[in-house]
Amino acid sequence: MADIVVVFDFDRTIIDGDSDNWVVTQMGLTQLFDELRSTLPWNSLMDRMMKELHSQGKTVEDIANCLRQCPLDSKIVAAIKSAHSLGCDLKIVSDANQFFIETIMEHHGLLGCFSKIHTNPTFVDEEGTLRILPYHGSTLSPHGCSLCPPNLCKGLVLDHICTSAPQCKKQRFIYLGDGRGDFCPTLKLRNNDYVMPRKNYPLWDRICSNQMLLKAEVIAWSNAEELQKFLLHLINTISDEENLGSKKTSCSNSSGCQSHTMPVYS
Ligand SMILES: [Mg+2]
Ligand SMILES: [Zn+2]
Repeated sequence: MADIVVVFDFDRTIIDGDSDNWVVTQMGLTQLFDELRSTLPWNSLMDRMMKELHSQGKTVEDIANCLRQCPLDSKIVAAIKSAHSLGCDLKIVSDANQFFIETIMEHHGLLGCFSKIHTNPTFVDEEGTLRILPYHGSTLSPHGCSLCPPNLCKGLVLDHICTSAPQCKKQRFIYLGDGRGDFCPTLKLRNNDYVMPRKNYPLWDRICSNQMLLKAEVIAWSNAEELQKFLLHLINTISDEENLGSKKTSCSNSSGCQSHTMPVYS
């Protein structure tokens, strides 16, 4: 099996919606959230929301129960399980947080499929409040990336994933995402890697208007069924290439966005 690393964004990629918005709306925090939205960075705002829940008498278990109701398409579950059983190294890189992601993944029996989840860390404080911290804490110098929010540069995380693997040069990456924060890591991908943006979402828009900056091949998807089909096809394609020891015959970089993002099969 080739060294295939599949990196998933979480919100609007693994789950169809956004886990932060799910908790805010389901637990009745929409009004306060909207009031404070312009005053705090997103990461700090979510920490503030958790304090609000605690002050209302809601427990960490109440939050977990809310997260367990969050919809997750069965085809995404199947895709993750298949990729894992095929021997791929699966990771999540997300600007959500550790507690939200782990709770949802565990509920669907997927937590064990991932070798690492890179996201904003959480802990429960002495008062029983769930606390959410920035991934790049205040002890680290600012990451200096203009593409990413101050609390998390996904491109830096991708660099770290690659350089910390002894077989770095042999690794083939497949990156799946939807958001603006997924563009930075997309630019780090190499010639034999793939990016799978969600069609008509911000990452897709950025890719379409900056194709010359990309080295990776683009395979867009629109729904869970396509994500499953395209991802598993890609894994099989890469495995076949590596087994044959042949280099991928890449299609032209100069093609338009439309043709560049066609599935590699018809
Ligand atoms: Mg996302
Ligand atoms: Zn960045």
